[in-house]
Amino acid sequence: MKVTFLGCGDGFSLEQGHNSALLTFAGTNLCIDFPESNHLGLHRLGMQLNQIENLFITHLHEDHINGLQKLALFHKVYPGQTKPKLYIPTGLKADLWQCLRHGLELTTRGKREFEDYFDIICVDHEFEIAGIRFELVQTLHVPDMLSYGLLCKPYFYFSGDTRFDESYILSIADEVQTIYYECHLQNDQLPSHTSLEELLTLPVAIQAKMLLMHYVDDYVHAAARDQFHAEYKLRIAEPLRGYDGE
Ligand SMILES: [Zn+2]
Ligand SMILES: [Zn+2]
Repeated sequence: MKVTFLGCGDGFSLEQGHNSALLTFAGTNLCIDFPESNHLGLHRLGMQLNQIENLFITHLHEDHINGLQKLALFHKVYPGQTKPKLYIPTGLKADLWQCLRHGLELTTRGKREFEDYFDIICVDHEFEIAGIRFELVQTLHVPDMLSYGLLCKPYFYFSGDTRFDESYILSIADEVQTIYYECHLQNDQLPSHTSLEELLTLPVAIQAKMLLMHYVDDYVHAAARDQFHAEYKLRIAEPLRGYDGE
């Protein structure tokens, strides 16, 4: 299981891509979320948009889905070996199509539906790709908004966007090698996200297996991350670096 962030940026990031992870395993791949900035991230990895085989969408904030229309159209113009499979939490499917359909429904070849662009698999609890199981975990991002993380034992937990969920982190920490957790790394408290101050309340052994993502551009340069790593056990994920077996 190799995890490569196509971007680790927050919703307002300019200098790096928005947060999205490309997992490669068992001869296939799965992209968690699909911001527009993934196009450049994939290009830098030497990949085309039509090489994405599987997608999972955590929630419908635009910095997590604003590349899906381009991905869908690219696959129609330059088809990959297979239509991308879209694993979508059941409660998000209709709203996601509402977000996308204004640019995808009407075409020169007639009216198209969501299913014409993606093989859609609605997920309630878990899904499996090439023998690897991914469990949906509802997160605490915005009240009443559906938002999810992914648990993939024994490899990782990926938090998606969420407020600090201490009890959940404590409950799975021993079962995974790495915890990819969102942290804005700003001084201000943001009510829908997790702060550094909150993560520093966790046991140090848990902090040591965390990689932070969805952060502000202040940490996009290696020197800033190195300075942070000299001070804390927590690590900051680096865009386009492959984390092998983590
Ligand atoms: Zn976000
Ligand atoms: Zn969000």
